[in-house]
Amino acid sequence: KTRVLTGITTSGTPHLGNYVGAIRPAIEDSRKENVESFFFLADYHSIIKTRDPIRVHQSTREIAATWLALGLDVDRVTFYRQSDIPEITELCWILNCMTAKGLMNRAHAYKAAVQQNIDDEEADPDKGITMGLFSYPVLMAADILMFNAHRVPVGRDQIQHLEMARDIAARMNHHYKLKFALPEAVVDENTAVLNGLDGRKMSKSYDNIIPLFAPEKKLRKLIMKIKTNCLEPGEPKDPDTCTLFQIFSAFAAPSEVEEKRQQYYNGAGWGELKQALFEYLNEQLQGPRERYEALMDDPQYVETVLKAGAEKARAEAKPFLQKIRHGIGIRPIE
Ligand code: ATP
Repeated sequence: KTRVLTGITTSGTPHLGNYVGAIRPAIEDSRKENVESFFFLADYHSIIKTRDPIRVHQSTREIAATWLALGLDVDRVTFYRQSDIPEITELCWILNCMTAKGLMNRAHAYKAAVQQNIDDEEADPDKGITMGLFSYPVLMAADILMFNAHRVPVGRDQIQHLEMARDIAARMNHHYKLKFALPEAVVDENTAVLNGLDGRKMSKSYDNIIPLFAPEKKLRKLIMKIKTNCLEPGEPKDPDTCTLFQIFSAFAAPSEVEEKRQQYYNGAGWGELKQALFEYLNEQLQGPRERYEALMDDPQYVETVLKAGAEKARAEAKPFLQKIRHGIGIRPIE
């Protein structure tokens, strides 16, 4: 069986982009016969981005409830919270000792943060950059290598980090004669990357999101806020550069998308297009939203599911970590 692994950072409320880009394809994939799925809540990753404990805690609940509301079959997949598996953070340290600093110097996330400081004309290019941000590809490698995942579905920006995970795995295998599987990034060109309210990529840390399960009124309000240009009703519009159209396309069937495209060409007004998008999404999301709300009202149930998932994950991680400890000359735990 092919092992597929996906995680979502618990840094905020799950949004339409997380659903279209990660959760929906992951759930579809998990239903295939030859696939063994590992889905996790990346809470140790979230503290790189947010230092608000309430936000991390709330986000963890919301993301867990989201997966479950969308019909994740927890008997089929291994669904867990990263911090429930201490073997991952232990492996992270071991991998740190095998990772060249020069490799991390080249990581996109770190380089982008340095570039931001340079653009802001800061005296210190490393201002505000923590070791957590600097070495986060190592934690990501530990997430993946702990379960010998073969395939990791990612966005384009994560391909480099996957290559780093492979590199680290190959070094471990070479030096210690361990047998980590070498993971591969899977980039699905057909998976949309949705933009947010401000036109940038929709992202929990940009505060530009449309929550997947926003209550009806809020959903309507947010859709009305999506940035558009100043073309008036009657003037033809370009669907291909429009966030509204992009979101609609990610949800609707091809024939409906074609119909919508014509409405743009025919000069439908923004108000009308926004109202139509709201009605469409609202109808599609109504069922799962009700399940989500029920799950949010039952944290104990969600906790039980996560604990069972952690047990399943640790049944894999514990014996594997023993082997790794033995392999590197550290006494296995009795
Ligand atoms: P953060 O701001 O904390 O990085 P995020 O909302 O950008 O959060 P992640 O938790 O890092 O998302 O990513 C979870 C998954 O959701 C990844 O597979 C990522 O590719 C996908 N994803 C995130 N944002 C979008 C988007 N706007 N469109 C499509 N997929 C997305």
